[in-house]
Amino acid sequence: MGHSLTIERTLKKKSKPPENQLGFGIHYTDHMFIMDYTVENGWHQPRIIPYQPISLDPAAKVFHYGQTIFEGLKAYRTADERVLLFRPDQNFKRMNRSNARLSIPQIDEEFAIEALRQLIQVDQDWIPTSAGTSLYIRPFVISTEAYLGVAPSKSYQFIIIMSPVGPYYAEGVNPVKIFVESEYVRAVNGGIGEAKTGGNYAASLKAQEGANEKGYSQVLWLDGVHRKYIEEVGSMNVFFKINGEVHTPALNGSILDGITRKSIIQMLKHWNIPVVERTISIEELYDYHAKGQLEEAFGTGTAAVISPIGELNWRENKILLNQGQTGELSAKLYDTLTGIQNGLMADPFGWMVEGTVLSKQI
Ligand SMILES: *Cc1c(COP(=O)(O)O)cnc(C)c1O
Repeated sequence: MGHSLTIERTLKKKSKPPENQLGFGIHYTDHMFIMDYTVENGWHQPRIIPYQPISLDPAAKVFHYGQTIFEGLKAYRTADERVLLFRPDQNFKRMNRSNARLSIPQIDEEFAIEALRQLIQVDQDWIPTSAGTSLYIRPFVISTEAYLGVAPSKSYQFIIIMSPVGPYYAEGVNPVKIFVESEYVRAVNGGIGEAKTGGNYAASLKAQEGANEKGYSQVLWLDGVHRKYIEEVGSMNVFFKINGEVHTPALNGSILDGITRKSIIQMLKHWNIPVVERTISIEELYDYHAKGQLEEAFGTGTAAVISPIGELNWRENKILLNQGQTGELSAKLYDTLTGIQNGLMADPFGWMVEGTVLSKQI
């Protein structure tokens, strides 16, 4: 792909929200990246333009058949004014795996990272600096062909937007109450659970709503066939500390291959804490709890990083984990991973990479 990226700067910069009121995914930066795909030209015309609405034909496939994928990653500004990205290569690799599953054409991963660096450079004054804040980056692809026949679209747009965000939980890292969902499922093996695509989220809303009504913040998803084996928690991967070992559901085709999950596994192994990726049933988990061996549980994902689980409700059997408090290991994982991401702690894994093109100024 021969790309030459053009940059059109905005003539009126937006005012920035106060850093203590960022929320998550509410405010967007001054610019966006966009690139088009057609069968004749492949991916072409990459450009950074002022942040603006996009115009699509009402028959565009994305509205009808959900052929779309997305990614989520963060940029951080360090105390010494560097801009760092956490494992962006992993996000763009996964983007192409999602693309492949949804019959969307592959995107040049290295070019995408370079385009992202250019975009961050243009909007770098949007990266917040207070503790717990970052610049959330949302790359996504939509199918744009105006045609109601069911077939892969012949045209697409790849877009990157960015949002300055506060800590995912404004109140800080506190354990959340989780409802174990026994009726609805988010994905089944052979479906699209492994792909980061809107359809999985649409499928999850009903259960999420039900859990919220009952006073729970998320659901624990069980497998789609038996409603027996643990898959994920909300839109996060899930881990359990049992008898000093850490257990997490093995990737099985319906579980999203989280980059935080992968990194936590690597970190635990680095600390010589045994990690087991396997099939875990909800029954077994409750048995471990009954025997006093279920020590901690937490979810992992880019947005919240680590989200400790304080309570589970499975068919009205409620159990407290670690007395409803954040566990020692959950806290250590959170502090270490966010420390590495913010450039406050050494990065023995080589995860952090430059987020801008040149050293500092544009
Ligand atoms: C994005 C996502 C995750 C977490 O992935 P990260 O790469 O760690 O952010 C987990 N589960 C689902 C369903 C997701 O969409």
